[in-house]
Amino acid sequence: MNDGTLKIFVGYRVQHSKLYEPTKGGIRYSPDVDLSVITALAMEMTLKCRVADLPFGGAKGGVICNPREMSPDELERMTRRYTFEISSMIGPDSDVPAPDIGTGPKEMGIMFDTYKMFNQRAPYANAVVTGKPLTLGGCSARLEATAQGGVCILDEAVKQGHISGLTSLKDATVIVQGFGNVGFHTANILHKDYGCRIIGISDSKGGIYNPKGSNPSDVHNYKTDEKNEKESIVGYEGLDTLATDEFLTKECDILVPAAKETQIIGSIAADLKTKVILELANGPTTNLADKILSEKDVYLIPDILANAGGVTVSYCEWLQNKEGTQWKIDAVNSLLREKMTTAYGDLVSTVKSHDVTTREGAYMLAISRAMQVVKDRGIFP
Ligand code: NAD
Repeated sequence: MNDGTLKIFVGYRVQHSKLYEPTKGGIRYSPDVDLSVITALAMEMTLKCRVADLPFGGAKGGVICNPREMSPDELERMTRRYTFEISSMIGPDSDVPAPDIGTGPKEMGIMFDTYKMFNQRAPYANAVVTGKPLTLGGCSARLEATAQGGVCILDEAVKQGHISGLTSLKDATVIVQGFGNVGFHTANILHKDYGCRIIGISDSKGGIYNPKGSNPSDVHNYKTDEKNEKESIVGYEGLDTLATDEFLTKECDILVPAAKETQIIGSIAADLKTKVILELANGPTTNLADKILSEKDVYLIPDILANAGGVTVSYCEWLQNKEGTQWKIDAVNSLLREKMTTAYGDLVSTVKSHDVTTREGAYMLAISRAMQVVKDRGIFP
């Protein structure tokens, strides 16, 4: 550490399914990281890649740490050591990490550089991670990709009349939980490109609610202003701070959990007053809440479909690195739209033909596709 002390961090990398290789999944830096969470998230990646029909297996990684309390130097040293520890697992054709909670382009750049130091002659070595800075072969659409993909599905659901009582995104009221990469970009796209009213935004310190709507870009500037020591949205325009249960249960048209898992628990689900939930976080809804929601008139866009935009654009980045080219942003966005709308169409057909919930439909779609791969490959020896 910067003060000269030595600190041991515990980290994980889990590969869930190698039916397809490379395996793919983000790296999380958070005090909440543990092996069971990372394992569950690795399985979600397997299912997500099957729903989005991408040739990847599922993986996930993480380090138990609080990046907000660490200096850039400390974070860099920890990232390099973590990359070294998992270097026998990762590689452009074996396992490709990406950003998740607490990590972003900077960490991906450091991971690539560390990998490269030990693999000087490896071809297309920058394909070892996605979500890199543009100078290292990153993809310009990656930062907003998860948000963009989720909004694309929400837009389809509205256009196809699947959300009871919501016929247009214009003026629709939105509550977004989590204001990091995914939450900020989702709020911003919905506000800027679709004319939605962002009435609620929260981060780890609390939620703010403004029935007239806030401009996400202004809230982001407030949060990241050097003078804002809390580095939080709390206090924006003197709005009251709401706790999670009060915040999530405010009336709105669209609720976007974009923070972390198990946020919509049973008691909150019973009180929700939204028409649709766009699950951009991984696993934000508990099983009990899921049951309650299926009995209410709430349309659920499940995580393994809703947030597949990130891994879809990561696929473009990985391909362009292997080809040594740079995809044009229009080509990336068009592949993203095509993959997301096709996956949504497949989900809708599954839900109709089996008369199941959207959550059940998404799992059925993913697992039946994975089963087909097992059947087609057969069992060795
Ligand atoms: P991030 O670290 O950039 O942001 C997380 C945000 O959630 C922060 O604003 C944090 O303050 C907030 N938060 C944490 N605990 C909270 C709580 N209890 N209540 C309200 N807000 C809280 O992370 P991210 O990359 O935006 O990821 C968010 C979610 O989306 C995670 O579940 C992640 O697994 C999922 N996801 C991310 C990507 C991606 O491309 N980054 C892709 C797919 C899924």
